[in-house]
Amino acid sequence: MATLNYGLGSRDMKFAARRLLCKSGFSAGIAGHWNAFVDWAKPQGINKMEKIDKALVVRYGKYLETLVAKGDIKPANAQVYISAVNMVMYKATSHRWESISQPQQLIYCCGCSIEVAARLTYGIEVYPHRADLQEQPFWRCDACGNFVGCHYKTKACTTPMGCIPTLEIKNERKRIHVLLDSIWKSGRIGRMKLYQAISNEVGWEYHTGQIRSVSDAHKVYSILLRYT
Ligand SMILES: [Zn+2]
Repeated sequence: MATLNYGLGSRDMKFAARRLLCKSGFSAGIAGHWNAFVDWAKPQGINKMEKIDKALVVRYGKYLETLVAKGDIKPANAQVYISAVNMVMYKATSHRWESISQPQQLIYCCGCSIEVAARLTYGIEVYPHRADLQEQPFWRCDACGNFVGCHYKTKACTTPMGCIPTLEIKNERKRIHVLLDSIWKSGRIGRMKLYQAISNEVGWEYHTGQIRSVSDAHKVYSILLRYT
């Protein structure tokens, strides 16, 4: 039997999505973006989720591009709108939805040791059991499965926080962050001065998110130990 909105218990696409999102921590932001998509799709005869396909979402992307060109929305917002559609569809289809129209960006991947075309996604995909992260953007390398978070609290909410780490490098970065913060918070050296001192020693403008290898991480850690 054909399903209606993937059996979500509502004939209305907005209510169906709302039910879906409520199951895993409701996000008004995602719901609002989804509703905007529904308002765009409905006049075109799209009256249930089963009628939504990749071609439609690609057309929606083109429509958003015209809004960007007019200055009505920012490019980053267009990405977030598309990702919200992908996120709802990904959940509604029990993860069968392929988000091919999601924006891509060249980012260095530590797992692949090259720049990769990373794909913008949401916490729902990379942290499925973390309700608190579901609406946060991430860039994922589909070749190795590693991903990096974004400066999502800023205006440029999809700017990646550095290059894509492996799990091992991610843990090294966390360890460094804790030590680094404890040093400048102690007042022994200012935060800017400390970053400058590390930059001078490693030979590149230091940001913890730019650490590309475990040996990089160990080097930075040993520099920091001298300030403890
Ligand atoms: Zn990779």
